[in-house]
Amino acid sequence: MKSYRTLVMATLLGASMTLPVLAGNGGPGKGPGVGALPQIDANEAATLSFMREEEKLARDVYLDMNDLWDAVIFVNIAASEQQHMDTLLQLLDKYGLPDPAELDIPGWFSDQNLQTLYDDLVDRGRASYAEALQVGALIEEVDIEDLQLAIEETDNADLQNAYENLMRGSRNHLRAFVAEIERAGVVYEAQHLDPAIVDVILDSPVERGGSSKKRN
Ligand code: MN
Ligand code: MN
Repeated sequence: MKSYRTLVMATLLGASMTLPVLAGNGGPGKGPGVGALPQIDANEAATLSFMREEEKLARDVYLDMNDLWDAVIFVNIAASEQQHMDTLLQLLDKYGLPDPAELDIPGWFSDQNLQTLYDDLVDRGRASYAEALQVGALIEEVDIEDLQLAIEETDNADLQNAYENLMRGSRNHLRAFVAEIERAGVVYEAQHLDPAIVDVILDSPVERGGSSKKRN
């Protein structure tokens, strides 16, 4: 069990150290781009676009939950999600990609899966403050999985750094929601990720923001 957890930890927390090695430097030339910008492929662009809206989903749901339940945890984490959205918008701009959230209409998503998820989660969070906190924790679990997949599919250090920072935020948000859930005497059960991964996250301390972490 110990070694499994160590492996899970390495997979979850150490991807940025191993993946660039696996990815290598080569790859077919993609031709000159605009100026000297590095190029990203269609998959990377689609994922970046999706992640921008997934961060918006988190922000919008938390603002809705604050409207419903007037709880500062949702205000604080929504502000963090806005920063995550801003980070991804900077990358979309950098690579000359359109912003799926350009109109920034609360509760509206160009991705239909995210639209359905948003609608379902807000419905669920309406039931009670306790359910709203569960919705928060679920969003963070989904974010962590999607960010991990995004990191694994790219060899672009720009994107990897951004996703790593967002995933660190998501782990902290998950810790915060679960702490609030468990303050009410409820034992949190993983809703989306492997429970062993959730245990590793919850058993490890809050991580500091990206500014103190050396970037490569
Ligand atoms: Mn986020
Ligand atoms: Mn989050």
